[in-house]
Amino acid sequence: MNTRTPLIAGNWKMNLTLKEAETLAKAVAETATRYTDRDVLIYPTFLQFTQAAKIAQGSRVALGVQNCSAEKDGAFTGEISASQAKEAGAQFVLIGHSERRHILKESDAFLKQKVERVLEQNLMCMLCVGETLAERESGHAEAVVLGQLNAALGQLAPQLWKNIAIAYEPVWAIGTGKNATPDDAQAMHAAIRRRVSELNQDIAPQLRILYGGSVKPDNIGALMGKADIDGALVGGASLKAESFAELVKNAK
Ligand code: PEP
Repeated sequence: MNTRTPLIAGNWKMNLTLKEAETLAKAVAETATRYTDRDVLIYPTFLQFTQAAKIAQGSRVALGVQNCSAEKDGAFTGEISASQAKEAGAQFVLIGHSERRHILKESDAFLKQKVERVLEQNLMCMLCVGETLAERESGHAEAVVLGQLNAALGQLAPQLWKNIAIAYEPVWAIGTGKNATPDDAQAMHAAIRRRVSELNQDIAPQLRILYGGSVKPDNIGALMGKADIDGALVGGASLKAESFAELVKNAK
């Protein structure tokens, strides 16, 4: 029996109108009051963030931003800083989502800088890692994922690990309706935890490792039944109040 509280996170990406975001945030806050043995987190867009944070205030829902700058402040048009995210009420920052790694070409070195900015603010950093289909099919999935982990966190000072969560998201499973089998996901989660244990033995048993990639109400139970899967990072199925409520309910 581990002591890691399950964490279900909804990544809203660039979806929803402000009105829809407000309605969804209210529904998520209600859902979270019903399942007090698991944690719930939402990542609205920056423009929805303040309203969602107001609605979630005093509830069990944590708020995060989907990205932040690699710089502290200054002339970086269109960016927001980790300190601004904190000021707005964020507790988590999502770093290295595959859409940012692959579409926006964010490199491992760039993402490491972002991790540093997040941790300087004493925020929680949720680092996404994951292989492409070609990398999996050529037998390199584990090397790619552990390489991403090493690049972002390999040099991390021991006291900072308590502010880290990891989301393993195979790129081929995101938004595609395909997902890793619970056994395949578990194997990668165990490999991640083993590597973290080499980097920081004390933190490894406490570190939350979430799975992401077409998680739905009907497959989350089997995933969460695995020893090293501590929650889910959910895109599509987090955008509807009913399906997100079902997800949280089934995340045992
Ligand atoms: C995600 O956005 O991180 C994700 C996993 O999306 P989806 O659940 O839609 O595959």
